[in-house]
Amino acid sequence: MLPSVEKLLILQDRDQKLRAVLTELAALPGEKAARDRELKAADVRLEAARERQKEIEIERKKLEVDVKAKQDQISRYKNQQLETRKNEEFSALRHEIEMAEKSIVEIEDRELLLMEDAESLKPSLQAAQEAHIAEKRKVETHMASLISRKENLETRQKELESERPTFTEGIEEDLLDRYNRLFKSKNGIALVTVEHGVCAGCNMQVTHQTILEVRGEKGIIGCPQCGRILYEPQ
Ligand SMILES: [Zn+2]
Repeated sequence: MLPSVEKLLILQDRDQKLRAVLTELAALPGEKAARDRELKAADVRLEAARERQKEIEIERKKLEVDVKAKQDQISRYKNQQLETRKNEEFSALRHEIEMAEKSIVEIEDRELLLMEDAESLKPSLQAAQEAHIAEKRKVETHMASLISRKENLETRQKELESERPTFTEGIEEDLLDRYNRLFKSKNGIALVTVEHGVCAGCNMQVTHQTILEVRGEKGIIGCPQCGRILYEPQ
């Protein structure tokens, strides 16, 4: 194998590692945002359950006040009944009392329904609370691991970047430029094997002439189709 190709292969291996590190680093903010969204959704579910519980409480209090008002009304009517001597007025008051009593029954029915609602809400509130706690814990663990992963990746990135000049040493400038451009434009694969007459980069058949040129090791040979630098596997 040509010494320059050998050097480039080692460089490519290092550059691919760096590329993987950078790709992983770039994905971290997205991962963090996804965790944040999960937590927010759990917050919303819990808040909705709590809100409904509050509404029920408010309505029940209001109904209690209504009952009290009706009861006061009834006692007022009863007092008026004691004071009146007119028959029509007495029966009109009795009618009012009956109406008020009927209202009380209706209000109490509504209160019962609300109590049932509140009762059936308890498990879902409990579940929402538990889910929220679990979710929060999970997200916190995840965030912590994201932070340490980020630190590790950044350390690795610095290492790979600072060591890179060691691996580019002795590679001709033009060739290094060509390699760099290929690495960038060909998704991190600048050098590929040619096996059984096929370029491993683009999977296209290359000519016999190209194979002979690669084998002859007279210079750096690019794939006529994709431009990647070709070498024969050892
Ligand atoms: Zn090719």
